[in-house]
Amino acid sequence: MISNKMAERINVQVNREMYSAYLYMAMSARMTEAGYTGIGKWLMVQYHEEMFHAMKFIKYLEEQGASLKLATINVDNLQESSVKDIFERVYAHERGVTASIKEIMDLAVEEKDYATQGFIAWFIDEQIEEERNVRDILQSLEIMGNNQQALYMMNVELGKRGLTAPTDFSIL
Ligand code: MG
Repeated sequence: MISNKMAERINVQVNREMYSAYLYMAMSARMTEAGYTGIGKWLMVQYHEEMFHAMKFIKYLEEQGASLKLATINVDNLQESSVKDIFERVYAHERGVTASIKEIMDLAVEEKDYATQGFIAWFIDEQIEEERNVRDILQSLEIMGNNQQALYMMNVELGKRGLTAPTDFSIL
């Protein structure tokens, strides 16, 4: 069993992961609408990953005999966002998620909750990857400056990203 405090904290994280999914879905639609269909696809893969993260936390609550409490998910208006705005927002968002994941580890260490420490270690590793991917994209955007042709090529390249997370959550 995990503590009530830990169960509450993991429920907060479920909401944050689902908010991430919602945010990426909105970004994907915005980019696709603007003609950047490859970037839209990249962001949709990101959406699936976030739903997978949420499901991992939900499954963990279930395994630990704790209740799932779903909360309201906020929506963001991204209408005026450019490609650079979007990826800067993604980077800031992922850094916030990393801090949130670390808080769970801090609580698990404080409570000597070894099971949650083991469980959350996967997410700590995952965040290194999440931040790195976006940092690489931001660096490429910096290099290309106002070169529209390079931006179009990057859009095509990002559209090649395949699904990395399972879509059938019943097997988790
Ligand atoms: Mg996530």
